[in-house]
Amino acid sequence: MGFVHHALTSLMALPPLALWMTLLCVATTASPLEANASPPIHHQLHIELDPDTHAITGIDNIQLPQRYRADSSASFVLHPQLTIDRVEFNGQSLPVPAPAATPTLQPPSTRRVVDIPLPPLEQPDQPVVLTLAYHGLIDDSPKASGGLRFVRPDDTNGHIGPHGVYLTFETFWYPTWEQTLSTFDLTISLPSDWEAITQGREGPHTITDGRRTAQWTIPVPSEALTLAANHFTVHKQEWNGIQLATYLFPEEAHLAPQYLEASIRYLQRYTDLLGPYPFTKFAVVENFFPSGLGLPSFTLLGQGVVRRGYTQPYSLGHEIVHSWFGNSVFNDFAKGNWVEGLTTYLSNYYYDEATGNQQEAFNTRRRMVYEYNLYAMPDKEYPVRGFHHKETRMDNAIGYQKTALVFHMLRQETGDGAFFNGVRRMIQEGTGTYLEWNDLLRIFSNAAGRDLGWFFQQWIDRSGAPTVHIQNIMVREDPGQRGHVTMTGTILQTEPAFKIQLPVHLDLHGGLTHDTLLNVDRSTQPFTLHLPAMPTTIAIDPKHDLLLRFQRDQLPPMLNRWETDTRRILIRPQTMTQDEEQSLETLLQRLDGQTGVETIQADNPVISEPASYLVIGPSARRLLESGSFKNCDKAMDIQPGQISIREQAFEGPEMAFLISCPHPRMAEHTVTFFFGWSPEAVTPVSRLLFFYGWDSYLVFKQGKVIARGMFQPVDSANKLFIPTP
Ligand SMILES: [Zn+2]
Repeated sequence: MGFVHHALTSLMALPPLALWMTLLCVATTASPLEANASPPIHHQLHIELDPDTHAITGIDNIQLPQRYRADSSASFVLHPQLTIDRVEFNGQSLPVPAPAATPTLQPPSTRRVVDIPLPPLEQPDQPVVLTLAYHGLIDDSPKASGGLRFVRPDDTNGHIGPHGVYLTFETFWYPTWEQTLSTFDLTISLPSDWEAITQGREGPHTITDGRRTAQWTIPVPSEALTLAANHFTVHKQEWNGIQLATYLFPEEAHLAPQYLEASIRYLQRYTDLLGPYPFTKFAVVENFFPSGLGLPSFTLLGQGVVRRGYTQPYSLGHEIVHSWFGNSVFNDFAKGNWVEGLTTYLSNYYYDEATGNQQEAFNTRRRMVYEYNLYAMPDKEYPVRGFHHKETRMDNAIGYQKTALVFHMLRQETGDGAFFNGVRRMIQEGTGTYLEWNDLLRIFSNAAGRDLGWFFQQWIDRSGAPTVHIQNIMVREDPGQRGHVTMTGTILQTEPAFKIQLPVHLDLHGGLTHDTLLNVDRSTQPFTLHLPAMPTTIAIDPKHDLLLRFQRDQLPPMLNRWETDTRRILIRPQTMTQDEEQSLETLLQRLDGQTGVETIQADNPVISEPASYLVIGPSARRLLESGSFKNCDKAMDIQPGQISIREQAFEGPEMAFLISCPHPRMAEHTVTFFFGWSPEAVTPVSRLLFFYGWDSYLVFKQGKVIARGMFQPVDSANKLFIPTP
């Protein structure tokens, strides 16, 4: 569907620094449609809602183009608990279909296909209006989704209740022709202290007899109509002909200005980059259950996220970019999903680069490379073309992170001009219809003025990423050119080789540096570099502009390496005070729920097995202080009661630590320590530990991150020290 949602389920519990998880945006599955083949269906829809009784009453006058009257019947989907009261065909009454056979169908079975036989027409192309009146209750209360909380939002197929109204494409709250674009004129009536928001633009509204009646026009063809209603406080502001609005609960209404300002900042940036914004309004709407939904012309964010204020810049930017990609240019999910990767690239990554935040842009590229390496296992991964929607961490690593990096590499391959021309051409060609990967190949090849088939073949159709090494480095002084040297070497690449431009960075004597790109397309490729001074080190792609496949010991130690290891051992203390036990309680519950974790209880643990270890509580502190991890990283110094990292000392009872070290003997495994100088320091971190999986060390003071960073990987084969000849 042109309906993209962003799972923010767990955010209510998250401190701002841990918000990377919000970058994971989920797109719901949809099926193809031939958008240009026919005019859209037009609904003249009148809806009455009664939140206290979960009731909905609807009258829909449907202008039905010829192709939706196949075999002289009309076939659509309606929520099984909605009863059809009246059917008319061009004003003539038709028999009312029987109610659903089992009206108490369990969710998610909200699909009920209704077939209405239609009388013959005098002329087959004669205009047809099908009228349906219906009523019923929609009461699927949002439930916290199990398992991967940050991958999926709360679960509901639609809800009308005193806490809020949420009606979406999965609800079938009006007669729905699936895989079809529709336009709407909507009249919505609800109690006068409620406000509704949907797609399109709001017209006049009136209040009579304690009911508010509002008119909405949705002239842009859309795959599905989503409607939210609540006791909103509404703020509106006009910007460049676009109606900006916030629909917030009274408690959060004071945050309206910052959401409006942030919306303007993003809209300015992305209209400059992509062209005119495709809708006439953009609204930030607070939801009564955790969600992050990007809908045509509005975004629905859970209260927990909204309440934090505008602390998570990526989620709003991501949903705004979906206005173009996903909600205007549609994606044919059956043929792959480029929407999430491109949206992630342009929002979660490119915004930082474009606004000059190069350190954050680097962090994001590195994080994307690591996420692909850890969560898309070489023996399980699939090609980008095989990604449809996200259910697992691996889907996220491929469909969001790898795909975003593929767009980054495409941009480097074609140059900025051709790349962004291609992106804009996608919008010009694709608005109101569907693009698939093959269309992108054609569009970007045109923009670049050359065939990019090989690029799409290796990055979209093929799984994996190149594994490269440098070997046989030789350096000799150039005779006759004092100080100048010639360096030769060989790039080795695992078969089958990728065609890449490999960035290499050299440090030279005298504080000089040399950056260059090596064209590599074979498994063994000699190279020659002429340098103005003797080199001391050579590093492969130190800025992470390429997606490379690393061995595990080439990645820095971090909690996510424990989480993704094939063998995981948890060491918990044998003896603890009651306070210590309580401080670890939520973490231990969470760990109990994980499968495949071997648990050992030990006060003085020994690290001996070929596995990654997570050591928690007082045992972790004792093990670190015992001295066997003295060589964890040269940046860290451990003394009883005090840890110094990068020359900063951390002591005092409010401190807690999450530190990952290489396994002392087996570098492909890690040992992660979690402990504090007091139980009070541990408690606030304990329940959130797994949101801190991407750093080698984190120091928390009263639960807040005060220091974080990466240690060196054990095998830094991508950075070679060159001996002087
Ligand atoms: Zn998304």
